Amino acid sequence: MKYFDLHCDTISNCYNNKKSLFDNDLQLSLLRGKNYSFWFQCFAVWIPDEKRGKAAADYFDAVLQKLNDELELNADKIMLCKTTQDFIIAQKRNKIGAVLTVEGGAAAAGSIERLQYMANRGVKVITLTWNSSCELGDGADIEPSNGLSQFGKLAVKEMERLHIVVDVSHASDKLFYDVANTTTRPFIATHSNSRTICNQRRNLTDDQFRMIKERGGLVGINFVPVFLNSTGKASADDVLRHIEYFLSLGGESCLAIGSDFDGIDRLPNGMAGIESVEDIAELMLHHNYSEALTNSILFDNAYHFFVSL
Ligand SMILES: [Zn+2]
Repeated sequence: MKYFDLHCDTISNCYNNKKSLFDNDLQLSLLRGKNYSFWFQCFAVWIPDEKRGKAAADYFDAVLQKLNDELELNADKIMLCKTTQDFIIAQKRNKIGAVLTVEGGAAAAGSIERLQYMANRGVKVITLTWNSSCELGDGADIEPSNGLSQFGKLAVKEMERLHIVVDVSHASDKLFYDVANTTTRPFIATHSNSRTICNQRRNLTDDQFRMIKERGGLVGINFVPVFLNSTGKASADDVLRHIEYFLSLGGESCLAIGSDFDGIDRLPNGMAGIESVEDIAELMLHHNYSEALTNSILFDNAYHFFVSL
């Protein structure tokens, strides 16, 4: 099975807890993903809301160093995909494709030049905010929100110029619409579910989903129990409910998965980690999803998006 995951926090977790990426007791390890015939994994450097300015920039550098060390240790199994060619080479060489992303625009430390620095190191996606505010604007927990700051508006324009994808997961509603009005290229929500199915401000409204779709972006369904089901007791069936709902809004070409592995303490009932994505695929086929549609959601939509950047 082919799998493309738009978001996990595993490398930040490996850095903080001095764990190996190859084999660990987290929700994702290279060893546990060995059954996937092709596997592309976005590894987010997550910037905690208490780190700002130089502290955020230094933290980004430290976690990136950890990722690069792990890539070197496991060079026979995994490679960083910085260019379209790299995505193709990873498949030819039968390697896992690592995609570098940043969760929290605070990593730029309020500097436009820092975005070029990040692009040079292979950053493909930046989630503009986490739940609080940063130099770019206000996250989902800030209400009322001022949306994108002046710096945030400059930053998203520079990201578009550098072909770094703007990610609106964790955005406040105002920030979402500011992004839609400020940008021209496709933008994405790497790990966001449906607010109609589970009323949570981290989830996307129907209007937001349609805007991402019409722009040619992607929406990654996450496995966070409280964003799947308002009781917080979620199972793989809830993952399917969100997928089905977004499909009813015409999402067949923009839906993907953004697991959030190792960004959450607990997974839906019956799921253990990266190996459980196979069960989601099985469940989809069991519910009479065609193989083509299942593959689109689990791999093709995200793959085509990244190779056409
Ligand atoms: Zn997140």
